[in-house]
Amino acid sequence: MADVIDVINPATEEILGQVPRGTAADAHAAVAAAKAAFPAWSRTPATVRAGLLHEAANKIQAHTDELTHLLTVEEGKPWVENEEEIFWVHDTFHYYAELGRHERGRFLPPGDPDQINFVVKEPYGVVVCIVPWNFPLLLLAWKLAPALAAGNTVVIKPSEYTPLSTLRLIELGFDHFPAGVVNVVTGYGPEVGEPLVNHPDVPLIAFTGSLATGQRIAALAAPSMKKLHLELGGKDPLVVAPDVDLATAVSATAYAGLINAGQVCTSAERIYVHESIFGRFSEELADFVGKLRLGNGLDRQTDVGPMLRDSFRTKVEQVVAEAVRAGGKVLVGGGRPAHLERGFFLEPTVMVNVNHEMRLMREETFGPVLPLMPYSDFDEAIALANDTEFGLGATLLTHDARLVKRFYEGVKAGTIWINDPLTDNFAGPFGGMKMTGGGRELGQEGLDEFYEVKHVHWDVEGQLKEYWFPYGAGE
Ligand code: NAD
Repeated sequence: MADVIDVINPATEEILGQVPRGTAADAHAAVAAAKAAFPAWSRTPATVRAGLLHEAANKIQAHTDELTHLLTVEEGKPWVENEEEIFWVHDTFHYYAELGRHERGRFLPPGDPDQINFVVKEPYGVVVCIVPWNFPLLLLAWKLAPALAAGNTVVIKPSEYTPLSTLRLIELGFDHFPAGVVNVVTGYGPEVGEPLVNHPDVPLIAFTGSLATGQRIAALAAPSMKKLHLELGGKDPLVVAPDVDLATAVSATAYAGLINAGQVCTSAERIYVHESIFGRFSEELADFVGKLRLGNGLDRQTDVGPMLRDSFRTKVEQVVAEAVRAGGKVLVGGGRPAHLERGFFLEPTVMVNVNHEMRLMREETFGPVLPLMPYSDFDEAIALANDTEFGLGATLLTHDARLVKRFYEGVKAGTIWINDPLTDNFAGPFGGMKMTGGGRELGQEGLDEFYEVKHVHWDVEGQLKEYWFPYGAGE
């Protein structure tokens, strides 16, 4: 058994480097280091922690080019998307540096005049952060920054596909932190992730990844009742109303479904277009998507990069082929580009004649495929949007305020986008409903996930109470 893992560039298929294939012993050593660091870190004043987090943000920002390059060769998405990822990463650390020192609980009106009542927010202890490969640094930052700001110490388990950028981020950005506060173990989920999940000294697991892994982690954590923060899969709908400007709507839809080659939890994977514009919309979308430039993310002209691995591409091809056998029609794409000899590229694909019987419209595709279905009235569009086990995000393109209200009230999803899909605003929460898991990242909610609350009832006078035993004393 190899004791290292090769990290591969999905655009060239070259080996970029190797990382240790971690074991249970590595997991246990990391938890022990984090546990030893916790008492001092949790007592460190929040203003001091804020200073250290701002410094981390500044160091990360100063290395934007290096980290963007590493992300591009390791994960494959275009340079511009990775540069944006690094921006969001250092901004997250600035944001939680400030939020973490803002408040740590609240003061309550007392239940009795002699009492003082307050709620204290406390860190959990050692937090394990398990992260996927599609936005490896962003999704780490959304956990690491609030976890540290709240006073927890952390063990990070990056994806086995994208560990290099994580290791470099921690090396560059956190060398000024006390030893043991931030730890990383690399390796495979079952070999190093499960020992972390099972460890008795880990009270909280913050996980982003697939539904299947989330279910496995939840099952492992159940006997010890660990706190879970779960951000799982999605099957996001995008609804196009009849009033849209066609060119703008086409461009928004292509962006929503094809950034990171569709390998985004909030990718628009089901597109519902009003029947009055369905024909023109699908033709124009196919035309637009057919002109996107597929290539190596290091080329600044590239719109769409490769998929992460050949096996992921094969799975998407199978789902498309299955839909075609059931009557689906490919308007553009669907194949492997002839001009790119190496790399796990799949042409961005637009499909029609699809329905909810198909796996394409039910399971997370996680690839560059835009399947379109017509709808006739808006209630039908909302019903189609809700016809999924997931509830991460949903987009509506319209300028009709009445439709907007019906949409955000009627659709069961953690994020609703109107006319500008897949944007983030750190001041507000991000997360899902239904089988996406109930975790929330960003905003105050994303900090509160890393605190336990304690309600203190303090009777300052400490006098005898007439409502204590014996009940019959006053009769
Ligand atoms: P994955 O579930 O395969 O892996 C995620 C992480 O879990 C990796 O670090 C992996 O090594 C680890 N892991 C795997 N098995 C494990 C186990 N038994 N115990 C502990 N850890 C284990 O997911 P992925 O392929 O890396 O990422 C894609 C998935 O992530 C998609 O389903 C996508 O929708 C989801 N995702 C969700 C969000 C969100 O915010 N909801 C964001 C991004 C990605």
